[in-house]
Amino acid sequence: MADLEAILSQPHLEEDDIVFLLGLRDPDQIERLRLRAVSVLETHVGASVYYRGLIELSNVCACNCYYCGIRSGNAGLKRFTLSESEVMEAAAWCARAGYGSLVLQAGERRDARFASYVEHLIRRIRAESVLEELPQGLGITLSLGEQSLETYRRWREAGAHRYLLRVETTDPDLFAGIHPPAQTLERRLRALEHLAAAGFQVGTGVMIGIPGQSLIMLARDILFFRDHPIDMIGMGPWLPHPDVPMGDWEQPLSQQERLQLALNMIAVTRLVCRDINIASTTALEAIVSDGRERGLLYGANVAMPNLTPGYASERYRLYEGKPGLEAGAEQCRGRLFGLASAAGRAVALNQWGDAPHFARRQKSKERPRAAGPEPGGDSGS
Ligand code: SAH
Repeated sequence: MADLEAILSQPHLEEDDIVFLLGLRDPDQIERLRLRAVSVLETHVGASVYYRGLIELSNVCACNCYYCGIRSGNAGLKRFTLSESEVMEAAAWCARAGYGSLVLQAGERRDARFASYVEHLIRRIRAESVLEELPQGLGITLSLGEQSLETYRRWREAGAHRYLLRVETTDPDLFAGIHPPAQTLERRLRALEHLAAAGFQVGTGVMIGIPGQSLIMLARDILFFRDHPIDMIGMGPWLPHPDVPMGDWEQPLSQQERLQLALNMIAVTRLVCRDINIASTTALEAIVSDGRERGLLYGANVAMPNLTPGYASERYRLYEGKPGLEAGAEQCRGRLFGLASAAGRAVALNQWGDAPHFARRQKSKERPRAAGPEPGGDSGS
């Protein structure tokens, strides 16, 4: 059997090592992996936890992903789009709460009206969220799906600077199995390239524990994160939703197994990608009530407290068991501060909290990441 300590002390992990680490089940071995991830986190990005207030802008969606509760084919769902005043109110609350950044997330819409609405919101938020303690105003992350390079450029120009677009899986067959034919992995990869070209800090991620997904596929996902211009990761367990095609698919892993695999993914991603931001996602909490705290304990450094008005968040159900639906923003804030301190970590208020990886990527654009030891890597300083 491979020696865990020998693998953990290697400066660069290869596919076999990653598969081995993802598959750990023994609690003592998992604890050694976790401690190593925390040590890499502290060395390369610091122990602070950054908040992004999450605004679920709309559940209107043109896509029809087989796993997702807000897919266009879910006819029973009441659709909503938040008004400008609802968004501005949530943004003002976010700035006053000291979160420093917000995320605008929605289903995918590619029409001109929506692109203009988002652009307008970005400009207003940037202009109106400046406070004495937040002189730079709120940082803005978008999570609005695949768009044209032109739209990405427009939103970047308006003042958004980070974008989350999960690849969901980098395995072509698995991707094709969970999406309708019109949605291709090729298009998704092109959109990620366009985000980098538009100057965004790029976030991606995968769902973990999808039926048919192997540890090798997940290891290759992590190597994809390493070898592409990716600054942020958000990932969590796949969770069934009763009203979508994957709702009754057989689940090879139990909920607990999916949760542990997701935590192992966070830890190993931290070991391989070191100076990126990793979000501890809400989906972790759909399985256990302290799921997001556990994510932080495995090397994540970002949390996204929900700021969406209750009536809307209720209709933004991507999967079954979405937590915190009954809690308002105020309660959500209390819980999240408790969460960081339970994980023994301080919250960095009034900061954007960009990943050091982005600054490094800007400096060394011509040099591909995988080409050699990284400055700031374990083998370096
Ligand atoms: N339309 C936007 C954002 C909304 S969906 C976009 O495409 O980026 C945000 C993420 O929720 C998806 O990328 C997916 O990874 C996750 N998600 C959707 N359905 C899920 C499910 N059933 N279980 C777990 N995660 C899910």
